[in-house]
Parts: sequence; structure tokens; C-alpha cells
Amino acid sequence: MNVYFCMDYQKDLTMAIEDNLHNIKTELPDSVKLVAVSKTHAPEIIMKAYVAGHKIFGESKAQELLPKYEILPKDIQWHMVGHLQSNKVKFIAPFVALIHSVDSLKLLKVINKEGRKNNRVIPCLLQIHIARESSKFGLSYEECCELLESEAYTNMEHVSIHGLMGMATFTENHQQVREEFRALKNYFDQIKNKYFINQESFSQISMGMSDDYLVGIEEGSTLVRIGSAIFGSR
Ligand SMILES: *Cc1c(COP(=O)(O)O)cnc(C)c1O
Repeated sequence: MNVYFCMDYQKDLTMAIEDNLHNIKTELPDSVKLVAVSKTHAPEIIMKAYVAGHKIFGESKAQELLPKYEILPKDIQWHMVGHLQSNKVKFIAPFVALIHSVDSLKLLKVINKEGRKNNRVIPCLLQIHIARESSKFGLSYEECCELLESEAYTNMEHVSIHGLMGMATFTENHQQVREEFRALKNYFDQIKNKYFINQESFSQISMGMSDDYLVGIEEGSTLVRIGSAIFGSR
């Protein structure tokens, strides 16, 4: 009895993940990529999404990301979406496809150093503080400009800034979320014009999670980071 229950559960879970992925992907315009946020979920669960054809996954802790990278298929693109401490960069520097959460010059310096050690250029997004809550990480627009104008940044050869990331306030109020996302898109346009006008690689706006990705897309997101709407609640 138990065995059958388990098999059904596994089958239901596989189908649920496949359905969720399929439904979300049909909602995304071609210009928007889906990062399936798999934090706290076991490799077997991630494999269900992989087998369904998904190859881009996001994690929020370097210590959790490294073992998953080691045992899962090597054609997965791993994105670091959560707050990253400088002393953890070395764990993910050899393979990470995109770090969404660069929120200080100090962190960017370490990423550059680890990029050099690994003989690669590490793609990064600058995280901008757009939420009204003070708890969320991120740079202000002014701090972002200061970073990009700093001599230290100008000399970095092992990082490449591909755009901006932001997290909206945790609220049911979609109008507020929309205004915060709109502010991020405005910052993106200004920073693009000021510092990256001829650089096609500066093209990504990472905004939108399970509860607000449709708003994010309407406001110009190119990367949505979706966890619970694919894998269920954590
Ligand atoms: C957990 C997390 C997500 C996904 O959140 P859901 O609400 O489960 O979609 C997205 N971005 C970051 C930075 C996260 O930590």
C-alpha cells in the first residue's frame, strides 16, 4: 500500500512540475527567460524539471548550489539569485552562469578575483534596492553609478555586467509592485544610456517571482525567477 502511494506521489509530482513549467512557459514572451528557482529542493526534484526540458536553474545559497552542480547534468545553467557573501564566491566561480545579486563593489572585486583564478569572465547583474522595505539587499541608483564610475570597476577584466536585478516589496498590492518594477526599468534605461550604450551584453532585467512575474513581464522583465509556482511551496 505504501509503495503504491509513493509511486503515485512521485508520478503526481512529476506531472505537476511538468504542467507548471509548461503553463508558465506558454505565458512568457520570447524575450523573457525562465530561471527555475530550485532552492531547498532535492536533486531528484530538479531532475523532474530537467527531464521535462528545462535547463536554467537558480539557487540562493552558494553552499547549496555547489553540491547540486556536482551531481546534476553539466548542461544545466546555474544562476545565483540570492544574497552572496564574499567568502562564498569561490565555491561557484568556476561554473556559475549568472550572478543576479551583486550589491557592493567589494563583492564585485571578489568575483573578479575569482574569475581571474578560473580564467573566465563571470556574468553579473547589479542588484538595485527597489522595495520600500529596508530589509532587502541592493544598491541605490546613486551607489550603482558610483560603482560603475569607480576606477576599481573600470580595471576589472573578469566580470561582465549584463544588467540589473530587483526584488519588489512582499505585498499583495500589485500596484505598488508595478511601480517598483517600473522604477527598475527606468534605472536600467538610464544606466544603459550612461555606461553601456554600445554594449549589447547589457540587456537583462531580472524581475518577477511566483507571485508577481506577470507584472514583471508587463514592466519589461527579461528574466523571471520562479520557484514555488513550479516546485510547490517550500
Ligand atoms: C526564492 C527566490 C525566488 C523565487 O521565489 P518564489 O516566490 O518561490 O517564486 C526568486 N528570487 C530570489 C532572489 C529568491 O531568493
